[in-house]
Amino acid sequence: MRRKVVAGNWKMNNDLNGTVNLISDIKKEMTEKSLTAEIIVCPPFTNLETANALLKDSHIRLGAQNIFYEESGAFTGEISPSMLKSVGSEYVIVGHSERRTIFGEDNKTINKKIKTAIRHDLKPIFCIGETLKEREGGITFKVIETQVKEGLEGISESELKNLIVAYEPVWAIGTGKNATPEQAQEVHKFIRALIQKIYSASFAGQLVIQYGGSVKPENAAELLSQPDIDGALVGGACLKADSFIKIAEAV
Ligand code: PEP
Repeated sequence: MRRKVVAGNWKMNNDLNGTVNLISDIKKEMTEKSLTAEIIVCPPFTNLETANALLKDSHIRLGAQNIFYEESGAFTGEISPSMLKSVGSEYVIVGHSERRTIFGEDNKTINKKIKTAIRHDLKPIFCIGETLKEREGGITFKVIETQVKEGLEGISESELKNLIVAYEPVWAIGTGKNATPEQAQEVHKFIRALIQKIYSASFAGQLVIQYGGSVKPENAAELLSQPDIDGALVGGACLKADSFIKIAEAV
């Protein structure tokens, strides 16, 4: 059976105090609950070190929201893989739709970032998903296939042993309008079959594929009960400890 993973993408929310409070609330919510899902929190860069210290005595894992693909140098405003490692990041989100749409990241850039993460033993959470226009244009599978093939180009199966894929339809992110369990399952199944075609059945069979896009306590159980949905990448609902942990409980 595949493991289940619920990750919280805090985006640009919570200063240092907010981080201390939210982590303490999450830890409180988790006591007395025996969660089977692996829990990851992804605070902003500036709060990773503090978050890491606060998470030391817990099972909660730490992730960053982005990475740059160079090791060091004249890249004003960017954060290198070793910087992320040095403050305790285990995971890193790569290719989030907000990075793609607001900051112009394309599949080539995302591919370089995944390769860099792997080189530094950071576990990538690789986000893919179609826009509303693409879905309505009937090209969802084509878009997903291109994102997967170009995002993972030149990376071997053994290098991807820690990969998590997050299917996040862009039209469902932050809109309150989640994909139906059937819509999500259809794409997850497609992604798994594609990974099997590119790599192998055993790799595809154990790959964690999260769903993301307006996941909340009210819809989590139905989404997460689908056979190819192995957890959630949560935005808005991860900013309150009770809703985040309720989603994890739904697993
Ligand atoms: C996200 O940003 O990854 C996300 C899924 O956001 P939300 O849950 O708010 O739709």
